[in-house]
Amino acid sequence: MTIEFLNIKRINEQYSDELKQACARVIDSGWYVMGDELSHFENEFADYCGAKYAIGVANGLDALILILRAWKEMGKLAEGDEVIVPANTYIASILAITANRLTPVLVEPDINTYNLSIAGVESAITPKSKAILAVHLYGLISPMPELMKIAKHHNLLVLEDCAQAHGAKIDSNMAGSWGDAAGFSFYPGKNLGALGDGGAVTTHDKDLAKTIKALRNYGSHKKYENLYQGINSRLDEIQAAMLRVKLPYLKAEIEHRRMVAKAYIEGITHPEVQLPIFYGDQHVWHLFVVRTSHRDNLQSWLEQQGIQSLIHYPIPPHKQAAYPEISNLNFPITESLHKEVLSLPISPIMSLGDVRAVITAVNEFEVRT
Ligand SMILES: *Cc1c(COP(=O)(O)O)cnc(C)c1O
Repeated sequence: MTIEFLNIKRINEQYSDELKQACARVIDSGWYVMGDELSHFENEFADYCGAKYAIGVANGLDALILILRAWKEMGKLAEGDEVIVPANTYIASILAITANRLTPVLVEPDINTYNLSIAGVESAITPKSKAILAVHLYGLISPMPELMKIAKHHNLLVLEDCAQAHGAKIDSNMAGSWGDAAGFSFYPGKNLGALGDGGAVTTHDKDLAKTIKALRNYGSHKKYENLYQGINSRLDEIQAAMLRVKLPYLKAEIEHRRMVAKAYIEGITHPEVQLPIFYGDQHVWHLFVVRTSHRDNLQSWLEQQGIQSLIHYPIPPHKQAAYPEISNLNFPITESLHKEVLSLPISPIMSLGDVRAVITAVNEFEVRT
């Protein structure tokens, strides 16, 4: 018997009839790119996030790239400007910054939340700082009220990386509605997953929405007229239709993930395994990440028990071969996290029996020195 980390096939099987119907609807419509499914999904997703605008794009990385690119086109950012970003993020956050020839300023995360801390951001601000990229890592929303306050005080733009945090909220304000703009991913394994690649930008800013709509479509604001040297990054009709089927179920899926997280937190009592804090509505538990200095041994023990686990992430961005220019930087917290974190199985379809089996296996883990 195996307890899988995440079974996307079984998640989507629950909605199989509706997904197939939606697919047939698109096939029969004869319209496959930039049509009604996309505009309906954009409205529905904007409503869900409490944002004025949502713009569908090809993937989450493009969502982040296009936001920064649009701010450059709008004169709000220029080459070499500094963007403050957590050092322990997934590399896509950093790629979006460097793709725009902006300078990532990496800061250590808060050791308890794995997200940006106010002190960390304040210590990183220089006269060249122009934006904060707040990554809601593992599904926990960053401290947005405080970040917005610092940003206002220092005149910084705020970009939320919501790729792991669809539906997380603080005081009923959703991830994707706090900052000046937010990027979402609908990669199949994310909490709201398409059946292929997909992404979206949310914002309250009409000019930004307009600029991104042009940039995602060759820079064209009007058919055969191009304002910008844009790219092709669109959310196609099939994926928009799949997402329209799945969006109404997201709330229940998050509740199930939260129930699993709560059971883990109550049940895992191993003294060497550090658990995440339960954050109520602020956390949507894309990943359930524990920390231990015996990480590799714990992972092999779980594997022997038939339990899959993953490491998010084994190598921090500044130690990646892609970024030799920042490999000399030192981030002790970030580097220790990458050695100690382990993600346990969590999903909207995980059974309580499987949750109990994971808890038992973790508690029975024997530390050998
Ligand atoms: C998945 C992810 C992205 C990129 O999304 P894609 O759709 O895979 O391009 C960006 N940031 C974070 C934090 C992610 O987890």
